[in-house]
Amino acid sequence: MKDRLFLKFISFIFCLFLIGACQSGADHDVATASMETATLPSLSGKKVLIVYGGWPGHKPALFAEIASELLRKEGAEVTLSDTVEIYANEEVMSQMDLIVQSVTMDKIGKEQIKGLVKAVKGGTGFAGAHGGFCDSFRSNTEYQFMTGAQFVAHPGGQIDYTVHITSAEDAITKGIEDFQTKTEKYYMHVDPNVKVLASTTFTGEHADWIDGAVMPVVWKKYHGDGRIFCIALGHNPEEFHEAAAQQLLMNGLRWASGSKYEDKEEWLSPVVYQ
Ligand SMILES: [Zn+2]
Repeated sequence: MKDRLFLKFISFIFCLFLIGACQSGADHDVATASMETATLPSLSGKKVLIVYGGWPGHKPALFAEIASELLRKEGAEVTLSDTVEIYANEEVMSQMDLIVQSVTMDKIGKEQIKGLVKAVKGGTGFAGAHGGFCDSFRSNTEYQFMTGAQFVAHPGGQIDYTVHITSAEDAITKGIEDFQTKTEKYYMHVDPNVKVLASTTFTGEHADWIDGAVMPVVWKKYHGDGRIFCIALGHNPEEFHEAAAQQLLMNGLRWASGSKYEDKEEWLSPVVYQ
């Protein structure tokens, strides 16, 4: 009888131990999940609109093809448009989580810019690369106010240079190291209210008045509730087959796709020199 009671007691203690172990396991899962949401949102199931066109030298259709392939691989629902007319389509725009644009120079109409700005302010992410994003619609200052920079020159054309990761802690650049590239080195007029994630330094070789100037290469910002991301690399869209450039682009697209679902990040203004 005594033995039976002892066995029951042991079983009871064992059960308590098991319950405790399960609970600590559950706590662990919760902790892991919250850590994950503090990193980058997933592109899976996100609605992405890729708009391409403008100056053909930047191969906008090829950029759209490469970007759509990378996005679909991650489970995004991609819609392609070869005209900015789609920005005036409120029904389409209201459904999008992210707009990726590759339209160099070209022009944008009143209704189109109105539709684009409205969607972004309302929480649709807006992202792109090189001239397809930061050299679009040169005469439209409302567009430049939103994106955070405007291309002005690429002294020396396509040259070798170092991309320096300036923010090792940001989820977009975490784990990526400084790297060498060969492409146009964009000199831009930059909005001070952007968070710079990577930069490059100019020499005076091709324009002596910019010797030592530090220029953003990758940045993020907000416009209203919409997340804005730009990478200035990519004169040739095939540069995004390179590991570091591709990782920066895709991390930026992941981040920008989360505006409607995640809290707005707070950072100081101006932040360009941080
Ligand atoms: Zn270019």
